[in-house]
Amino acid sequence: MIKRLFKFGGASVKDAEGVRNVLRVLQHQGAQDVCMVVSAMGKTTNAMEEVVSSYYKAKKSNSDQIISTVNEALAPVKAYHAQIIDDLFGTSADEVKASVDILFEEMFGFLAWNKSLNHSFIYDQIVGYGELLSTTIVSAYLAHQGVANRFVDIRQYIKTDSSYRDASVQWEETNERLKALSSSKELLVTQGFLGSDSNNFTTTLGREGSDYTAAILAYGFDAESVSIWKDVPGVLNADPRAFEDAIQLHQVSYTEAIELAFYGASVIHPKTLQPLQRKGIPLYVRSFLDLENEGTCVTAGSPLVPEVPCYIVKKNQVLLELATQDFSFMAEHHLSSVFELFSKYRLKVDLIQNSAISFRVCLDNRFDQFDALAEELEGQYAMKFQKGVSLYTIRHFDQKAYESLPKGSEIVLEQRTGETLQLVVS
Ligand code: ADP
Ligand code: ASP
Ligand code: MG
Repeated sequence: MIKRLFKFGGASVKDAEGVRNVLRVLQHQGAQDVCMVVSAMGKTTNAMEEVVSSYYKAKKSNSDQIISTVNEALAPVKAYHAQIIDDLFGTSADEVKASVDILFEEMFGFLAWNKSLNHSFIYDQIVGYGELLSTTIVSAYLAHQGVANRFVDIRQYIKTDSSYRDASVQWEETNERLKALSSSKELLVTQGFLGSDSNNFTTTLGREGSDYTAAILAYGFDAESVSIWKDVPGVLNADPRAFEDAIQLHQVSYTEAIELAFYGASVIHPKTLQPLQRKGIPLYVRSFLDLENEGTCVTAGSPLVPEVPCYIVKKNQVLLELATQDFSFMAEHHLSSVFELFSKYRLKVDLIQNSAISFRVCLDNRFDQFDALAEELEGQYAMKFQKGVSLYTIRHFDQKAYESLPKGSEIVLEQRTGETLQLVVS
């Protein structure tokens, strides 16, 4: 029976040493009853996004150079994986190299056959190969080291709608399919981030979605725990890349973790918590380097141990301000049509401030569609916007909160709700 989900992110498998360390984690924790969810290696997903853009540009302009363009963009991805394989397998690499070659051939097969100009569709068919490559290599390496395991193509189990790049899980069908896997007596190795739609095309669950995959599987398997192995000791009260004195949190309630992830604490994907909370499955965020550190446990109970303010920064947001052209009130029907457009262009609303005649929102331009939105709003409203602003969210804020802002930054919007202070800073 599968009882524990282990998720290994890109950082944990960024090179051969990382993959060897995954084996160490398994030896330390025991591999029985584990299903491993693995992301693409290092920054492979970003590199695959480049492949998609260059293919898309060439395809749209009807270039006869499509194949060479794709080859050029794929060359670093191929070289990167080949290096890891050489480091891990030495002279015994033939079999895994053959499996990896098949994946690249499949990818070319798709591109040669593809007639679609739907960017998000193409994106999902290509970008998902990052995870297929990493799991092929990790599974083969574990077997090579004597750790028997079963490679699972997760697309056969996680079924979604066809909202490419941000697919929604079809829970009933997914749970039904997962039943067949849950009684496995073998260690399972599978991909994060991926699913498939009713036509069996690959879908993705949104960037950084592998944490969410682990939660979907934990839910379907009725698992006892999920551990996500990271390059930090656990959940801290701030991103250590942005704040020097970040403190490790030992326990966080589901609700608090949902809030932190929602406001942008990128250590946990925001959708991860809901399925776990529904079944009371604890989530451990742990260091893949310091196995003695127990990390952070997200579970029911005290909101935050220790009780400290938590700082979250989201960079590259857009602050949009709208008013009616005749300066009459921003009424419900205006707001409802504006929100429909946010939904149409898949912009995430992070903060709203409304006054009698104007309406301000801070938007996350996830899919780079803000310009299309602005074009549609132009002429309908008096509009101002500022790109490249940062949104600071401070949960349980205290007076020191303002000191955490970078020197010289200008606060362009401030909002307090209960224990949460939000500042849009330019
Ligand atoms: P993965 O390898 O699983 O994809 P991520 O890079 O997505 O890992 O997440 C780990 C990173 O999250 C850390 O390196 C850290 O910089 C960042 N991070 C952001 N907010 C926090 C926080 N509150 N606590 C810990 N890490 C955080
Ligand atoms: N590889 C995907 C990404 O980089 C999913 C993940 O790592 O969680 O977004
Ligand atoms: Mg990640």
